[in-house]
Amino acid sequence: MSTTQDAIAAAEAHSAHNYHPLPVVVATAEGAWMTDVEGRRYLDMLAGYSALNFGHGNRRLIDAAKAQLERVTLTSRAFHHDRFADFCAQLAEFCGMEMVLPMNTGAEAVETAVKTARKWGYRVKGVPDNTAKIVVAADNFHGRTTTIVSFSTDPEARDGYGPYTPGFEIVPYGDLAALDAAVTDNTVAVLLEPIQGEAGVLVPPPGYLEGARRLTRERDVLFIADEIQSGLGRTGRTFACEHEGVVPDMYVLGKALGGGVVPVSAVVSSAAVLGVHRPGEHGSTFGGNPLACAVALEVLAMLRTGEYQQRAAELGDHLHHELGLLVGGAVREVRGRGLWAGVDIDPAKGTGRQVSERLMERGVLVKDTHGSTIRLAPPLVISKEDLDWGLEQLREVLAD
Ligand code: PLP
Repeated sequence: MSTTQDAIAAAEAHSAHNYHPLPVVVATAEGAWMTDVEGRRYLDMLAGYSALNFGHGNRRLIDAAKAQLERVTLTSRAFHHDRFADFCAQLAEFCGMEMVLPMNTGAEAVETAVKTARKWGYRVKGVPDNTAKIVVAADNFHGRTTTIVSFSTDPEARDGYGPYTPGFEIVPYGDLAALDAAVTDNTVAVLLEPIQGEAGVLVPPPGYLEGARRLTRERDVLFIADEIQSGLGRTGRTFACEHEGVVPDMYVLGKALGGGVVPVSAVVSSAAVLGVHRPGEHGSTFGGNPLACAVALEVLAMLRTGEYQQRAAELGDHLHHELGLLVGGAVREVRGRGLWAGVDIDPAKGTGRQVSERLMERGVLVKDTHGSTIRLAPPLVISKEDLDWGLEQLREVLAD
């Protein structure tokens, strides 16, 4: 068994340094808890950036995966397989839509949404070839591909990766007038996170999503909701858009769709929109593979009970109440919905990274973002006692 230091040194020597992980080396995990290579236990308050909404080693998901592993794991889309139709039909129905285009990672699904919107623009809306525009929000996070970083406003994500893909218009998040002004006859889509996760769990002003929905409908523009991090229970509803009664034209899903077991992502939309793709025009070797479909079908069965959404809503109220009590002291501001919070710490108390490291020493794992912000997004299966214990550690770290 390797020690923490050996494992980190080996990783440093042989992996690209595109991450700056906390110095913990996880060996096993169950529910909301992880154990490192030296036997120390940690409460997971990040949940794989919401990919682990159902907790580590969730029995139902592991059993579904094991059963499928024994049958067939990959056919590629050259052939049909017997889990594919169920997966697509059930996911479409679950989203109140008609069609699904499965991929693997979130970024691939966003790319798929961008390509779909452009093709819809040319084939259905009648936008002249190669002139389509997509309006996006400043401080967005939609993934890491070259096209996606082309419309990022984060220099860390962008710099050194040009030349950039044209065709995107960036407007301030939460500003309806700016969104309205940016839409032209060539606009094919507005792409938004209903809550901006990586930006620090930014909830837009009330009426923003509803206004964006109205505006896009009136101007014959697709409303694409990137619910990769906000969707599938995290905010106390199935989709974060539901908080404003909004149904987009396209959901982009990922992370929790694969239950933290396998990468599964998808674009879910109407037949009029996803029907624009023809054989050979877009695809993925692993997208919609049997193992992914089997796990995602179990995820959908679990979400259909509503119990995870309810847990996120109830525990989320508690989380936000407790965090609210810290505002005015060591905490500047708390944002979020459900079991998801962005906590801005008084910079005098340290950077987000320093607070995360001190929490780690006390057995709580969170991740910082942008300076003095930490994000809390525990698995939705966390017990109230464990959540309270985690919050107690945060209070003590901030009191030090
Ligand atoms: N979109 C949103 C809103 C995300 O939060 C993320 C990941 O954090 C992505 C897209 C990219 O997903 P992936 O890392 O699976 O490519």
